[in-house]
Amino acid sequence: LSEGLQSAFKSLRGKGKLTEGNMREGLDIVQRSLLEADVSYPVVQEFMGHVNERAMGKKVLLSLRPEEELVRIVHSELVSILGPVDPSIHLKKEGPTIIMLCGLQGSGKTTTCGKLSQLLKEQNITPTLVAADLQRPAAIEQLKVVGEQVGVPVYTEPDNKNPVEVCKNGVAKAKADGSRVVILDTAGRLAIDEELMGELQRIDNKVGPDQVYLVVDGMTGQDAVNSADAFNKALELDGVIMTKLDGDARGGALLSVKHVTGVPIKFIGTGEHLDALEPFRPEGMAGRILQMGDIVAAAAEAHRIVDDKEREELEAKMASGDFTLDDFKNMMEKVARPGLMGRMMSLMPGMGQFKEALESDEAAGGIRQTIGAINSMTAEERRTPKLIDAARRTRIAKGAGVQTPLISQLIKQFEIMKPLMQNMAGGSVMDRAKMMQQ
Ligand code: GDP
Ligand code: MG
Repeated sequence: LSEGLQSAFKSLRGKGKLTEGNMREGLDIVQRSLLEADVSYPVVQEFMGHVNERAMGKKVLLSLRPEEELVRIVHSELVSILGPVDPSIHLKKEGPTIIMLCGLQGSGKTTTCGKLSQLLKEQNITPTLVAADLQRPAAIEQLKVVGEQVGVPVYTEPDNKNPVEVCKNGVAKAKADGSRVVILDTAGRLAIDEELMGELQRIDNKVGPDQVYLVVDGMTGQDAVNSADAFNKALELDGVIMTKLDGDARGGALLSVKHVTGVPIKFIGTGEHLDALEPFRPEGMAGRILQMGDIVAAAAEAHRIVDDKEREELEAKMASGDFTLDDFKNMMEKVARPGLMGRMMSLMPGMGQFKEALESDEAAGGIRQTIGAINSMTAEERRTPKLIDAARRTRIAKGAGVQTPLISQLIKQFEIMKPLMQNMAGGSVMDRAKMMQQ
């Protein structure tokens, strides 16, 4: 999608002033790009209707930079179609709030149970998980593992084949234990079928969840939309959680899912780890769909895992302009949790190439290389990377056993990361990121 849009706007830019003629051309490319990104046809139609109306207005053509105005219009239309924002779980004052997760098999329900638990634990709430997926023998075990990882109780009845009973009993147990939240991990199927829907409807009717969230796999494109439609017809959904948006999926399906369900998108899953859940932000997603990159998300996540003391030290360093490759290395070691670094990179515009470098030979291999390369530099070079000329690059690369271009990349990366580190060090993450996006 984004390449389409970018080239669309580039071609418009090349022509100097936008005219009605080349505006249509640009809009056609926008439309085609959206379709290519798995946004369903009716949604594209409606979307283009709005954009057309606004883009064809005199205001755009008369503005100083009409092509920027057009990008702005497309962006703001995306934001409005993806909104409104409601990442709250709406906890009840009394009694446990029951959350039911449903979705196709493999969409990420069980993982999301763990992620939501983690989020709640950060708010000092310990939810009870209920293993209501009785279809696969391994499902109960998987939820138990997730529960253990986060440190929350998991209610199971291995011999009971009736998910409604298991849910009811689980809720009763949670109530007795004084749990404020119960999360029901229900069964999925590879494809939608009557039996599954019947089972979910029975749980919905008999257990009465307060919040029913549909979990959809962001990688599945048009399938996500079809399943969302079916679940939405069978159940009264309160929200959508779209998972696997850490991959190459640009999130186009989110537009259609939002359109067919009409309920807020609550969270997005951005990795297999249990802390990879973010409140949904339409601006970020619109930017992502337009591939402007979403620096805010990465910075906010990094912010979360660096503790206050470290942040203070770093802040002092940043303030004194003393942030060196050594500090960069330390931060890398800190932030180098499997996946996060690559995710941060993939979220930033033009950083895709570093993602490769950082994630080569899976997980942290690339980061080890980077750290190794910094280790091969002299103290002076680490303090003043500008000193590193071609000869030094070759020497460092040899010392670290890597290719020379990696050293140039690393230095470039350091320069780009500096402001991001500054964000982590404090200040307003949002403001900085906004600045960087402009
Ligand atoms: P369920 O069948 O709906 O319960 O799905 P699971 O929770 O078992 O997840 C299926 C697979 O998707 C597992 O391998 C998860 O690790 C993976 N997964 C879930 N959420 C995400 C996500 O946000 N990003 C990525 N990359 N993988 C995810
Ligand atoms: Mg599951």
